Amino acid sequence: MFEKILIANRGEIALRVVRACREMGIASVAVHSTADADAMHVRMADESICIGPPSATASYLSVPAIIAACEISGAQAIHPGYGFLSENANFVQIVEDHGLTFIGPRAEHIRVMGDKITAKETMRRLGVPCVPGSEGGVASLEDALQVAGEIGYPVIIKATAGGGGKGMKVANDPEEMERAFRTARAEAKANFGNDAVYLEKYLATPRHIEVQIFGDGRGGAVHLGERDCSLQRRHQKVLEEAPGPVISEQERARIGRLCANAVAELGYAGAGTIEFLYENGDFYFIEMNTRLQVEHPVTEAIFGVDLVREQIRVAAGLPMSFHQGDLTINGHSIEVRINAERLPNFTPSPGRITQYHAPGGLGVRVDSALYDGYVIPPYYDSLIGKLIVHGRDRSEALARLHRALGELIVDGVDTTVPLFHALLAEPDIHSGQYNIHWLEQWLETHL
Ligand code: ADP
Repeated sequence: MFEKILIANRGEIALRVVRACREMGIASVAVHSTADADAMHVRMADESICIGPPSATASYLSVPAIIAACEISGAQAIHPGYGFLSENANFVQIVEDHGLTFIGPRAEHIRVMGDKITAKETMRRLGVPCVPGSEGGVASLEDALQVAGEIGYPVIIKATAGGGGKGMKVANDPEEMERAFRTARAEAKANFGNDAVYLEKYLATPRHIEVQIFGDGRGGAVHLGERDCSLQRRHQKVLEEAPGPVISEQERARIGRLCANAVAELGYAGAGTIEFLYENGDFYFIEMNTRLQVEHPVTEAIFGVDLVREQIRVAAGLPMSFHQGDLTINGHSIEVRINAERLPNFTPSPGRITQYHAPGGLGVRVDSALYDGYVIPPYYDSLIGKLIVHGRDRSEALARLHRALGELIVDGVDTTVPLFHALLAEPDIHSGQYNIHWLEQWLETHL
């Protein structure tokens, strides 16, 4: 086992990794920008190293600074968290070239899944059902018009290098195609430096269902059921739950087995998420994330496993600590993402936390790097905490979420907490009847 792990991240996910390390008897090294000198992950880790100025490009994304921090501290492995360098295949290669271990999948798997066209080709070959669309990219407007004519409107144009909901445009008919195609390419170029796009059938009312998989890197893999992340704003998740309220045990077993077999075939190592749109009983693959996800705690809650501990074990060459047969679902879990944002426009609201109180009690978990007096810097994303509840069933989880939100105090900045209070008053949330468009439509009339 490693003696020391460096965490190439910040905020709640850096803390999450510090906690796993401490329980495993592994020393942790935090890295931070000058803006994060007082951050909780720096205070909680065993050691810390300043790696640069506030701008993420010059700190959390600076490969030389992170490698140097490893060498100075004597860390043997790097946990990337999510975001930043977590899905950067070149980084993984450099880490390995320095004789260090990357806690995550191999560079080739990150590369294949990081390009959505090769990801879809690979998944299709492995027997995973995909959204109908172009075979590969579409290079010209003529091409796009022809493919759209074949698969039928509406279609969605997506950036092959896309992420964070950017570079996606819908065209409802050939007239809309020209503009949609042009804007999608321009956005893709501006955000990802790569204007390659592809086409998919635009599904009208799907749910977002994703399957958590875990591979041992030697051809063994399991699935840990699904999460439903249909409540989204601008293609970004707002609330996640497990198990999915509309997925049957048979469907879970079928899609889970398909996913586990696919990643086993690849020889995939560590945690990964295979994302689907789900409509009328069918699953359509959209992308795979080759890292730990923000919403992983809901899966941990219902299966009683520690996914970060498992990532570290597998990276150290140990076998997984569970088999498929050991994994049974216990109850229901819901996570809400608490962002420092001002409603109704969700504009960032950085600043000083004048008072913070975290809820507690049975079935409540708070993953957050907040503390009294902490100043949220304006340079990074606005997620300041995740409230995760676990109950014997969905209605108990919802009641617990309501109770825990009532105990939470975050003063000094605006947050998305009022949004969740309002959502909990909605019958559709209680019945689980919503698709990926529900929240956007609700926001138009309710905030
Ligand atoms: P990103 O990598 O930017 O997050 P994804 O491919 O994961 O992009 O898609 C994000 C979200 O966009 C999905 O959860 C869904 O809400 C929407 N979306 C993507 N593809 C389609 C599609 N073919 N039809 C309808 N909605 C889609």
